Amino acid sequence: MPVLTRLIPSPVVVDISRGALDDLAGLLADQRISSNGRLAFAISGGSGAALRERFAPALPSADWYEVGGGTIDDAIKLADSMKSGRYDAVVGLGGGKIIDCAKFAAARIGLPLVAVATNLSHDGLCSPVATLDNDAGRGSYGVPNPIAVVIDLDVIREAPARFVRSGIGDAISNISAVRDWELAHTVRGEDIDGLAAAMARQAGEAVLRHPGGVGDDAFLQVLAEGLVMTGISMSVAGDSRPASGACHEINHAFDLLYPKRAASHGEQCGLGAAFATFLRGDREMAMLMVEVLKRHGLPVLPHQIGFDEDEFVKVTEYAPETRPGRYTILEHLDLSADQIRDAYREYAEAIGS
Ligand SMILES: [Zn+2]
Repeated sequence: MPVLTRLIPSPVVVDISRGALDDLAGLLADQRISSNGRLAFAISGGSGAALRERFAPALPSADWYEVGGGTIDDAIKLADSMKSGRYDAVVGLGGGKIIDCAKFAAARIGLPLVAVATNLSHDGLCSPVATLDNDAGRGSYGVPNPIAVVIDLDVIREAPARFVRSGIGDAISNISAVRDWELAHTVRGEDIDGLAAAMARQAGEAVLRHPGGVGDDAFLQVLAEGLVMTGISMSVAGDSRPASGACHEINHAFDLLYPKRAASHGEQCGLGAAFATFLRGDREMAMLMVEVLKRHGLPVLPHQIGFDEDEFVKVTEYAPETRPGRYTILEHLDLSADQIRDAYREYAEAIGS
């Protein structure tokens, strides 16, 4: 009987718990990632200082690097400053931007990355993609998956609730992204990876149907695990397909058309997912998403993040351009601006606003 299985590139350590950061050096030594603690930490210039003060005493052999910002130039600068240090690993300690920069820098200098997330703003903390701003707006760069992911729930709890909420919108959007993938499979024969789809969908469903909120550990645990599983689902699929469909095209369009006014990733993806699900004709799921997003204080209508109807129509019309080749409900319906407006009005009416 043939035994045909596959190996999944995935971190050797996933520690999502209260106090997970208290013994980071010990954890990395145990797992043979760094036996002597020679680690290059990437932190933000702002809240990073407090984290450094708190964790540096236990990590005497580590060096600390401030990340300038979230651009590709910042990531290259970070790599250049770290490259002569003879480290065992790079540790990205911070929010999404810091981890994205650290991921790119680690890949560039050939070191493994340890991702230590201090908030749960998106599913990039354990994905094979680094999202960085560049001259063209924003780009996604392929990088190896982190070798370890550490999420200290005590640290997450201190993050601004806004950032944690953003992760909720990103996780829930998986459900819409997987539906888009299925649509592309049915209509265009695109290959669908059942394991990647299952992982991403389960992560989204777990967050969608969890009765808790950002204030309780049980919910934060499920959200953090969901975001990590989503990242790994992208490694399984080989691209962002399981977690990025029309929801993310709408998000990218907000970012590219209105770079100064764009809201957070998860706010835009959650709204995009609810609208895309409505466009797909799945009213029941769209209404459930709206209800849950509202409960967590996330936007379900564009004016809640400062955009009017005309702007949202423009965003939705432009959205397919942001990911050429990705087939979603938007490419499938190929709506004109007027049709988008009608659909949007129907959506707004259906959700009672
Ligand atoms: Zn996302």
